[in-house]
Amino acid sequence: MLHKIINLTVRDVRFPTSVEQHGSDAMHTDPDYSAAYVVLDTDRGLRGFGLTFTLGKGTEIVVCAVEALAALVVGKTLQEIVSDFRGFYRLLTSDGQMRWLGPEKGVIHLATAAVLNAVWDLWARSEGKPLWKLLVDMDPKQIVSCIDFRYITDVLTEKEAVDILVKAQEGKQQREDQMLKEGYPAYTTSCAWLGYPDQQLKQLCTDALKSGWTKFKVKVGADLEDDIRRCRLIRQMIGPNNTLMIDANQRWDVAEAISWVSRLSEFKPLWIEEPTSPDDILGHAAISKALAPLGIGVATGEQCHNRVMFKQFLQASALQFVQIDSCRLGSINENLAVLLMAHKFQVPVCPHAGGVGLCELVQHLILFDYICVSASLDSRMCEYVDHLHKHFTSPVVIQDAHYMPPKDPGYSCEMLEASVQKHQYPEGDVWKQHMNK
Ligand SMILES: [Mg+2]
Repeated sequence: MLHKIINLTVRDVRFPTSVEQHGSDAMHTDPDYSAAYVVLDTDRGLRGFGLTFTLGKGTEIVVCAVEALAALVVGKTLQEIVSDFRGFYRLLTSDGQMRWLGPEKGVIHLATAAVLNAVWDLWARSEGKPLWKLLVDMDPKQIVSCIDFRYITDVLTEKEAVDILVKAQEGKQQREDQMLKEGYPAYTTSCAWLGYPDQQLKQLCTDALKSGWTKFKVKVGADLEDDIRRCRLIRQMIGPNNTLMIDANQRWDVAEAISWVSRLSEFKPLWIEEPTSPDDILGHAAISKALAPLGIGVATGEQCHNRVMFKQFLQASALQFVQIDSCRLGSINENLAVLLMAHKFQVPVCPHAGGVGLCELVQHLILFDYICVSASLDSRMCEYVDHLHKHFTSPVVIQDAHYMPPKDPGYSCEMLEASVQKHQYPEGDVWKQHMNK
């Protein structure tokens, strides 16, 4: 624990996923899955790895923000940080000058996530445990001591948080054993990106069914007739008993969302994800209310800035599925607050994943949620996307459509150094070739 952080490096790593339309949706038509990738060096040789996810252009801005935060981290020991993790979180998010860039939102918050993810990785590695297990073995008071309760005590006090965790101690060991044996249920988004032609959709869906997938998400929102055709095709492929979700990635205004989704209701989607602006809490509430009689819930969170926004979404009954993101919020510290608030409101958490590294990261959080907070798998599942895992030293393991708990120490987001060098922007070989085309 005396590991002193002596250096922080951050690199701009981009994968040219837009070439094959992976990740394409109604608003992000050509994403190049990318990351601001952080490495912490310590005086004893142990290293911590963290990242935040981006879509390509602008990653250099996040890199710059991480560099601005570096001085707050370098020189500290791991012990100093984790013995007052709440204080350290606040140091990063409430710097008297830098907080003007957020506070706790946008580029500076993405940068905070990358740095804190690396610190958590370092902590788990120093204990020789995968991150989820580090959390599971922590005592409720210690977990709560990592959370900044500022702005959420009207909904969740520190005492209530401890009580929730203490109550969930019962059956904890059985749930951990169950996860190690069965894994955490997942759904796939890999079959139906918006830019994929029908033939590709069919093939991917057939393959996914063969591999045991039962829950599928389809991108919608660009063209209604096209959506009807694609949803019909997928529903026919997966049959009436498998689960279908749809995702508009913020495409519509409120009234448009309600009428558009109503037209798609015949395909029985479980949820509509991000129907409108991610900031429009009352808009989401109106959509939730209008779609409830159709049996369609609203899911959102991948671009929900912070715990305060999640608090209000929950207070306003504006979502029925909480989609935490391991890189949008201030790392595990802030995600813990959201998991506990969701539990208080009895709203299931179904994390956002995909991109590059998001599956690797968020699996740890959802395992913790099941074992130590929710104790339920009812209406719960974690997103899975089958891209770019091969670039990680401990890639996710999916078995029969379940995330199998990681065994390697850390937070699973260390990339292969060869991959980082090859994809570094703009000097990596992949980008040199790309630009010469
Ligand atoms: Mg989404």
